[in-house]
Amino acid sequence: MAETNLILLGPPGAGKGTQAERLQQDFSLAHISTGDMLRAQVANGTELGQAAKRYMDAGELVPDEVILGMISARITEQDAREGFLLDGFPRNSSQADALAATLAESQRRLTGALALEVPDEEIVRRLSGRRVCLKAGHVYHVELDPPKHEGVCDQDGSRLIQRDDDKEDTIRKRLEVYAEQTAPLIDYYEQAGLLRRFDGTRDPNEVHNHIRATVATLRMEDRL
Ligand code: ADP
Ligand code: ADP
Repeated sequence: MAETNLILLGPPGAGKGTQAERLQQDFSLAHISTGDMLRAQVANGTELGQAAKRYMDAGELVPDEVILGMISARITEQDAREGFLLDGFPRNSSQADALAATLAESQRRLTGALALEVPDEEIVRRLSGRRVCLKAGHVYHVELDPPKHEGVCDQDGSRLIQRDDDKEDTIRKRLEVYAEQTAPLIDYYEQAGLLRRFDGTRDPNEVHNHIRATVATLRMEDRL
């Protein structure tokens, strides 16, 4: 069967990570989150992590050259050769062009761009209550999607923490960066005929059902 290569688009807090966790299991896709990869580099104190941290704390994009090397290595790994789900990448038009070029070099292509639509005021509420697990970045919300036991990840038992950049000032800055640099990608993928839009304000399970049905259709069309 043809590979299923997807990207998830949407503002910070739209639910990309939440949906990626679910879709990865439905379709055996490699979940590639540039945010998670960067946070792992920061936690391990690598040179790349040290270079990235000040941009992340300020709510700005990490320079393309740091991200592009990391991504092109990751999408050629064995698990991602059978299909991937990119979460948090691409975030500007030069990253989108670089992704298309990297895939074309090995006769690969994107199957779809899934856009989650959520208004700004809901984003601030979501990100202020977001908690993630220390071990694998599994995502929760103190009110909207709480874990079974407060402060503990349902999936791996590790401690839940608040991310350094989920503070109100940084959230506002990230929304500005999204509007300026990332939102134009919606048009870019619409023109390429790859865009599918979803109402991200619904309950996480409902959003998941909608996306899953769309991805199943995309896969069927690809087989015809
Ligand atoms: P969210 O989806 O909540 O905005 P992410 O975990 O995707 O957060 O990203 C956190 C931070 O990591 C971003 O604010 C940015 O500094 C950096 N980052 C993640 N992905 C990219 C990328 N593709 N390009 C540049 N910076 C990135
Ligand atoms: P992103 O990866 O786009 O930044 P996340 O998946 O981390 O977004 O979700 C941001 C916050 O919103 C988390 O606290 C998550 O639990 C919560 N959340 C995600 N999807 C929904 C939803 N459909 N309804 C309510 N809250 C949600």
